[in-house]
Amino acid sequence: MSAHNGSHNGKVAPAAFPPPVDSRAEFIKRGLDPEDELIEVGVAIVGGGTAGLSCANRLLQLLGDDPETMERLGEVPVAVVEKAKTCGGHNLSGAVMRPGPLQELFPELSREDWRKEGFAYGEVTKEAVYLLPNGSAKIRIPTPPNFKNHGNEVVSVSAMARYQQREAEEAGAYILTETAATQLVVEEGRVVGVRSGDKGRGRDGEPLSNFEPGTDIKAQATVLAEGCWGHLTGAAIKEFDLASGREPQVWELGVKEVWRVPKPLERVIHTLGPWPLKLSSKYGHVGGTWIYPMKDEKSGDDLVSIGFVIDLEYADATTSAHDLLQQFKLHPLVKGILEGGERVAWGAKALPGGGYWSMPKLTMPGALLVGDAGGMVDTVALKGVHHCVMSGKLAAESIYAALVRGESSFESYEDAIEESVVGKELYEVRNTRQPFQKGFVAGAPLVNLMMGTKGRFPGGRWSWHRNDAKPMFVGDTKDKYPKPDGKYTFDKLSSVFITGNATRDDAPNHIRVQKHVPREIAETWRWMCPAGVYEIPEDAPEHGVVDVIVNYTNCVQCGAITAKGGRLTTPEGGDGPLYQVT
Ligand SMILES: Cc1cc2nc3c(=O)[nH]c(=O)nc-3n(C[C@H](O)[C@H](O)[C@H](O)COP(=O)(O)OP(=O)(O)OC[C@H]3O[C@@H](n4cnc5c(N)ncnc54)[C@H](O)[C@@H]3O)c2cc1C
Ligand code: SF4
Repeated sequence: MSAHNGSHNGKVAPAAFPPPVDSRAEFIKRGLDPEDELIEVGVAIVGGGTAGLSCANRLLQLLGDDPETMERLGEVPVAVVEKAKTCGGHNLSGAVMRPGPLQELFPELSREDWRKEGFAYGEVTKEAVYLLPNGSAKIRIPTPPNFKNHGNEVVSVSAMARYQQREAEEAGAYILTETAATQLVVEEGRVVGVRSGDKGRGRDGEPLSNFEPGTDIKAQATVLAEGCWGHLTGAAIKEFDLASGREPQVWELGVKEVWRVPKPLERVIHTLGPWPLKLSSKYGHVGGTWIYPMKDEKSGDDLVSIGFVIDLEYADATTSAHDLLQQFKLHPLVKGILEGGERVAWGAKALPGGGYWSMPKLTMPGALLVGDAGGMVDTVALKGVHHCVMSGKLAAESIYAALVRGESSFESYEDAIEESVVGKELYEVRNTRQPFQKGFVAGAPLVNLMMGTKGRFPGGRWSWHRNDAKPMFVGDTKDKYPKPDGKYTFDKLSSVFITGNATRDDAPNHIRVQKHVPREIAETWRWMCPAGVYEIPEDAPEHGVVDVIVNYTNCVQCGAITAKGGRLTTPEGGDGPLYQVT
């Protein structure tokens, strides 16, 4: 490896250029402020998404039947800290959901009620899975067992979070929206709360005229429900060594659009490639697509959710999930569904892909991890929503049981997860995705074998290697991306615009990356970022080290940069997208 630019034979791994971050030093606060300067709550939940709000609602159900324990938790028994403008604003998923856990959480609510509340769009009755050999052909294959969705429900997690927020508020939760939790407060080896971020700082961190300092939020239990390996979650994992003995986490990135369409789509569709991805293993491409029908009961509109997900293990720096989705839309299979319609939403988000072996320990003194923060996604079936609901519910039950007994250990949650649908389903697919790290063609037969035997063969523990250790090269995937026409295919910036993204132009930069890196790394970030945040100056040299310009106000907080050598930290509360139906 050349000491000059970290490059070896024109290939260079993002891990050689780590972000300038020391998460324990920066994101862990040692000790609480004096009592008269802090807010005290019973249980603090960081993240008002599916997992966090399921935890809040379950806790309030239990406390509602137990006024004595409720009283012991003080004036604010349950607080949810959410950085988006409103709950749901930063949530995005496919989403076909397995209904069981949500039915358990709200047993009095029927699926008809879900649809009337505006977060569910119909039961899956038909489905189809295709291989796409190229940009015009399709081969329908029998639905693999893990892709069977019959009886599941199409939902929007963004709309579902807004529903869950209303429920939680009615039951007495205190929901602090537009508030980022920026530090985990640790005292004597125990999490005792979180600190909210300052507001009103300028580009260089200087306080502006509307400056408001953050506050310590002291809690008897802290739940980290930040989604895909969040800001405090990462610091907690380091501080309490929660990933010791586990496989490293790996990631996928999904870009999604919602379209209003002239005629209803009758079935859930998945495509498994290889088109528009490259088959040769040198590209490291593994990914797939979805198209889900959505009937909006309120407006009567026929909508579809369409998206492209790619493993962030790829090697061609010019891979762009956003542009691959635009390319996918040109396939006749898709054109037949979308044409004559109108795009109504766009968004992007990363998801944890490592599954069972990559899940960190879920408890530490004073705190727990739920949902994607704990890595609970089955990326074989692309299912995480029901695991988030279940883990939130089980975390609430463990916390409540500890509070009633006057104890402060939440360890029972680890076993509860292991024995629940979360542990069982993730265990079944524990080794299924790893063979794809050898490439799509080499990995596919093993993946099929693992699916067919429900993970029994080949057994053992299959390892993952880190996405940021993959050497990158500047390839030709980009050559096939369509030129956006603004009607059917779109560029990144007009897509960010329709998310309602509202990040102040003079806000401090919340993206941590090195600003002088080999072109391979800079190109990786430029193409990967669905929001067009990274730019390389036009006069930069063709080879060697280039400057990176970071237009961080475009960021939609998808989190993908963390997998490929950078770090997303929390921006000021209220910044970022305002998703409605994603
Ligand atoms: C593209 C894509 C497609 C998917 N498709 C499906 C599917 O079809 N079916 C399925 O079951 N699953 C699917 N999944 C997985 C599923 O969406 C996730 O498992 C689930 O939505 C995660 O929920 P969560 O509550 O854990 O995290 P999130 O939904 O990410 O919520 C976390 C919340 O915490 C907030 N937050 C984070 N950090 C802080 C902080 N420090 N301070 C304050 N607030 C903070 C965020 O703003 C956010 O609102 C998909 C995922 C993706 C990305
Ligand atoms: S800059 Fe923001 S939108 Fe772009 S990859 Fe990073 S987290 Fe995602």
